[in-house]
Order: sequence, then structure tokens, then C-alpha cells
Amino acid sequence: MKYYSLKNSNISLAFNQALKKGLSADKGLYFPKKIPKLSEAFFQKINKMTDSDIAFETIKLYVGKSIKKSSLLEIVRDTLNFNFPLVKLSKNIYTLELFHGPTLAFKDVGARFMSRCLSYSLKKDEKITVLVATSGDTGGAVANGFMDIDNIDVVVLYPKNKVSDLQERQFTTLGKNIKAISVDGTFDDCQRFVKDAFMDIEINNYLNLTSANSINIARWIPQMFYYFISYKKLSELNKKLVFSVPSGNFGNLCSGILAKKMGLPIDHFIASTNINDVVPKYINTGVYTPRASQETISNAMDVGNPSNFVRIEEIFNNNYKEIVKNISGYKFSDTETRDAISCLYNSFGYVSEPHAAIAYLGLKKFLKQKSSDFLGVFLGTAHPIKFKDVVEKETKSTIKFPNQLEGIFSKSKEVVEIKKFQEFKSLLMS
Ligand SMILES: *Cc1c(COP(=O)(O)O)cnc(C)c1O
Repeated sequence: MKYYSLKNSNISLAFNQALKKGLSADKGLYFPKKIPKLSEAFFQKINKMTDSDIAFETIKLYVGKSIKKSSLLEIVRDTLNFNFPLVKLSKNIYTLELFHGPTLAFKDVGARFMSRCLSYSLKKDEKITVLVATSGDTGGAVANGFMDIDNIDVVVLYPKNKVSDLQERQFTTLGKNIKAISVDGTFDDCQRFVKDAFMDIEINNYLNLTSANSINIARWIPQMFYYFISYKKLSELNKKLVFSVPSGNFGNLCSGILAKKMGLPIDHFIASTNINDVVPKYINTGVYTPRASQETISNAMDVGNPSNFVRIEEIFNNNYKEIVKNISGYKFSDTETRDAISCLYNSFGYVSEPHAAIAYLGLKKFLKQKSSDFLGVFLGTAHPIKFKDVVEKETKSTIKFPNQLEGIFSKSKEVVEIKKFQEFKSLLMS
């Protein structure tokens, strides 16, 4: 398995090389030369496989010879050491809870997988600095995934005052090899700083950089596991499967489409967004216009220029008709999101949070226009405790505090504040 850059198809890197680089020097995202196909036999036995076995059988096709099979199996088992409950809300609506990992975010899977692959791939004495921009949840997941890993430093950039106190604590209180930088700007500014650092010759002469955003193949690709795990639990029902994905940077949705291309029988995808609706707008009008992101209560999806959309286009050979045949897109306001949290609680006794609530709304909208042979799964990407204020207000109930967060409010935050790229550069060079 080799990877090329979406800006240069002549590039050919192995999994571990693309993993270490993160982003190609031409700013292109890496993409597999050929999307592997799974055999009939795999789908016949999938109901009997454990989540880790499914993950191993699917990811090994992307890792190739970069990691020894026995080590890869260990990495996968270690990555998936928590549960992924599929909760039934009604006859044709389910939610897959992806938030039972150490930082209560679905990003734990990608972050844990990437950190372990990177640690395996570093040569003795080789040091690497991981740069990551976060709109909320990535920072915590990546910081936790890489904490205490030898020879790896992590630098988290986040927009000042635009992430919740709890989210901020998850990456500013760890210390050790984890540094946090707050940027006086938006998430898009943070993302731009990271991209510009990769292009900066001086920084690259001084540091060995990689990125842990979903632009990195080792964070992006393992997200396909969620779709295989859902399928395993639902295939017996023989319904047309549709997934509603709460989307920001579109890594998660793109990995679902990748799973489908590998042969996983998924009928349709729904790109559910907040008012940052560049992709739904494209799906509904054919016009793609990235723009500055706007703040919402589903802050992990406040993305104005989603980096993974180019990968979705690549999978569909830039064919607009194919894209709209496979993906529907809907956007929802904060008011609609709040109402959905309250509706999920009052109708099903289910406590949700803004991101999942938006995915629920997207699914409901889609199912309304379709026959009853569809079965929908909306992805639960964060634990409701991360959005405590909004959730408790809408449900008029108290959320039980999960064990993972024990002690987090007694630690102090360590943050450096910056405004300009030049300040970021000086920090990296010092
Ligand atoms: C990151 C995140 C998303 C968006 O995922 P993408 O892969 O960037 O589209 C949605 N919900 C939550 C809670 C997140 O943290």
C-alpha cells in the first residue's frame, strides 16, 4: 500500500512515511493509491469477529509492511480498549456512542492509533514534534493519546475562549511532553498556523514535524472502524443502512465513505452540520465556498474550510453526481440543536449533546422523505458532560460525572497566548 499527495500523484510513500510527514510538502493530503476491497468471506464472518479483529483485518490493508502484523494487532487492541455501545432509540433509529474512551471524544480512536503507530515507527534517537490545531475535542484526545510517549512532543493550538473549560483542561493540565498555545483568533487561524509551520523551511530544519489532525492518515483511516462495528451489530436486520455524521472537518464522514468503497454495504450518508454549512450547501447547490467559521454551541464543528472534503471528492473522482447520490447534507441552528437535545430526552429518555443532536436532526430529516426500509445510525461523538451547561438546561436533569474526568478540576492550566504566526514560530524554535 502506497500513498500519494492530492497535489501530486507521482509521490509514493509507505504508510509509516506518510504518517511521519502528516502533510505533503506541497500542502496536499495523502491518499491511498488504491482503496482495498474486502472479500465476501470477511463479510460472512463479521458477526462473529471482535471489534479488534475487525479493526485489524481492515487496517492492515492500509498499513502494509510498515508495521509487523503482531505489533499491529497489539496496537489495535490497545486502541480499542473501551466500549462502543449501539443504543436503540426507536424502530429505525440507533445511535452509536463513540465517547467512552479516555477523553470522552470519538477522536480517542484516531489519536490512540496514531500515537502508537508513530511511537513504533520512530527510529532509536529520532525525535518528532506533533502539531495539532483543535476546535475543542482533538486537543484532549491527541494530548492524552501521546502523553508520556518517549521522543514525541505535542503542541496543541486552540482558539482563545472558544473551547469549553473542560475541553481546555484536558490538554492544558497534563504538562510533561504536552504544550498548549491559545491563539487570539478562530480555529481556522490555528489550522493555518499549523499548515504554515509545515511550509516554513527554518522550522523544518530545526524540528521534525508531523500533524495529528485528521489530515494525518493514521488518525483519519481508523475512523472507518465505527462503521464496520455498527454494521456487525445491525446486518441481521437486513435494512438499508444510513449514517448521519456530525461533521466539521469531515474526517469521520470521509472514513465512512472509505469503508463503503471497501465493500461495506452502506446505502447512504448524511453530512449534518451546524450553520457552518459549506458542504451541505455544496451538496444542495453545487457551489463550494469556504468561508470564515462562525461560533455555535456545537463548537467542534465550527469549521469554515473543512480539510478532508478534498478526500471525499477524490473518492468520487470529483464527480458531483456521485457525491450527491451518496451524501445528503443538512444544517441546523443552535435553537434547533437545543430543541433536539430536549426532544431526545423527552421522547426517548436519551441524554445527548449538541453534536449528536445535530446528527439526529439530519437523520430525522432524511428518514422523513424515505420508505421505512431504511435504518439510521447517528454517531454520538462526545460525552454530554463536555457540554454540561447546555445539556442540563435542556434536559432539566443532572449528568453523572464520568470516571475519566476524576481530579481534572484540581489541576492548574499551563498556556502560552499568541496572536501571530511569528510568535508561534519563535516558540517552536526556542
Ligand atoms: C471533531 C468532532 C466532530 C467533527 O468531526 P470531523 O471528523 O472533523 O468532521 C464532531 N463532533 C465532535 C464532538 C467532535 O469532537
